[in-house]
Amino acid sequence: MRQWSRRTAWEACVGERVVVIGADAAGMSAAHQALRTAKARGRTLEVVVLERTDHTSYSACGIPYWIAGDVPAPDRLVARTAAGHRALGVDLRLGTSAVALDVAARRVTATSQDGTTTHLGYDHLVLATGAHPRVPGWALDASGGWIPGVRVVKTLDDGAAWVEQVTRDRRPARAVVVGGGYIGVETAEAFVRRGLPTTLVTRGEVMGTLDPDMGARVRQAMTAGGVEVVAGAEVDGVETRADGSVAAVRSAGDVIPADVVALGLGVTPATELAKDAGLPLGAFGGVLPDARQQVGDGVWGVGDCCEAIERLEGNRVYVPLGTHANKQGRVAGENLAGGSATFGGVLGTAITQFSAGGSHVEVGRTGPTTAQARAWGGKVASLVTESTTAAGYMPQASPVAVKVLARPDGRLIGMQIVGGPGSAKRIDTAAAALWFHAHLDDVAGMDLSYAPTFSPVWDPVQIASRRLADRLD
Ligand SMILES: Cc1cc2nc3c(=O)[nH]c(=O)nc-3n(C[C@H](O)[C@H](O)[C@H](O)COP(=O)(O)OP(=O)(O)OC[C@H]3O[C@@H](n4cnc5c(N)ncnc54)[C@H](O)[C@@H]3O)c2cc1C
Repeated sequence: MRQWSRRTAWEACVGERVVVIGADAAGMSAAHQALRTAKARGRTLEVVVLERTDHTSYSACGIPYWIAGDVPAPDRLVARTAAGHRALGVDLRLGTSAVALDVAARRVTATSQDGTTTHLGYDHLVLATGAHPRVPGWALDASGGWIPGVRVVKTLDDGAAWVEQVTRDRRPARAVVVGGGYIGVETAEAFVRRGLPTTLVTRGEVMGTLDPDMGARVRQAMTAGGVEVVAGAEVDGVETRADGSVAAVRSAGDVIPADVVALGLGVTPATELAKDAGLPLGAFGGVLPDARQQVGDGVWGVGDCCEAIERLEGNRVYVPLGTHANKQGRVAGENLAGGSATFGGVLGTAITQFSAGGSHVEVGRTGPTTAQARAWGGKVASLVTESTTAAGYMPQASPVAVKVLARPDGRLIGMQIVGGPGSAKRIDTAAAALWFHAHLDDVAGMDLSYAPTFSPVWDPVQIASRRLADRLD
């Protein structure tokens, strides 16, 4: 066993050491950007990445499409293999958990699967520990294991378990998805496409990151696609068979039969190590990096373990998405290796879809919801506009609803889109406008593309912005 307190003289000769905890999107982005930046500056950097599991750099975002059968095998979800990382100079240690941090001594204690304990000194530490899925007590048996048939949709191992369920000879007869966020919606899509009768139970409206009137449109599309949606209800328990496997979920006295139950109840930042090390955490329980992704002296935080600054009004938010994890990792890697980069903040831009049972609905959102914007203070004006995704006379034109949110002075603060094929990615126009603090008139007057096959002459985003601007005049 090697024991390090600080860096040895020999280590100092070969350059600084970076220890990254967590080898997925955020951690590996930081690791490679650190190496690239150091190389460009003629510096030598040793980058050690500790990863508890046997997996690295995979797209969790693709797991619902693996369950649905679009992605044939999990290796297709792996952006870079462990061998690929090592070939590029990263000392990647899979099956190795960081179990303690001493930020004053700049030391991490790690244990590997064979029980070996190692103490690693570092010059820079990157916390990229991700998030824990929310798991209610009723989902677990007396020993803390999953009730057979109940599981989250989070990791490649979860994905493999779900693929096994939906492809086995004696497939489940009924599925229940608990949670109506994007993971719940995408999992319900996967189950329906696998021919599984599916009920989705959600506490509020489907897609709680939308205003309820827009979420209701998603619910209607899911219902049209064959999902039984129970909105405004909470699952408070399960019923099990004699063999211990799930037979039903209970919700306020109702019993909904279920052979499998997928949980999509959101995540919380995985910050136990940071907390035990005395690093400050925010109201959402996340690490609190500055715009350079720095948490403290020699400590950096990236990805789902972090809270972030919302770009419009500077509020602290927790928006755990892969898009931020990659960018934040890059920023931290650049800075710790002597470069200069800042993370510009989050708008909460996100897209998803439900496409099954003959129903296709796309969802895009950016900026706060009406409720969030009010909670942040100030009045909110909003308008829902119905238009089409292509010129109305084209066969592919499908309905799209755009809800635009603005402050009374016309400053755009958010947009939500629910509609047919070609709807969701339009949200990026609004996100770009928000990024540069645009007003409704700016959006209405932007030089956006037009051809009948793609859009009405006025893009739906512009129609919505113009109409709300007219009302505010
Ligand atoms: C089903 C699903 C669909 C998604 N779809 C989208 C999408 O469409 N768009 C989008 O932007 N985002 C999506 N996301 C979110 C996205 O996957 C996450 O935001 C992203 O993976 C976060 O990356 P991360 O590196 O911060 O954390 P993670 O991916 O959680 O990685 C953290 C890593 O740290 C490791 N670790 C934790 N603690 C320790 C320790 N003590 N020692 C060693 N290792 C440790 C973990 O094992 C893990 O591998 C989706 C997520 C899921 C689950």
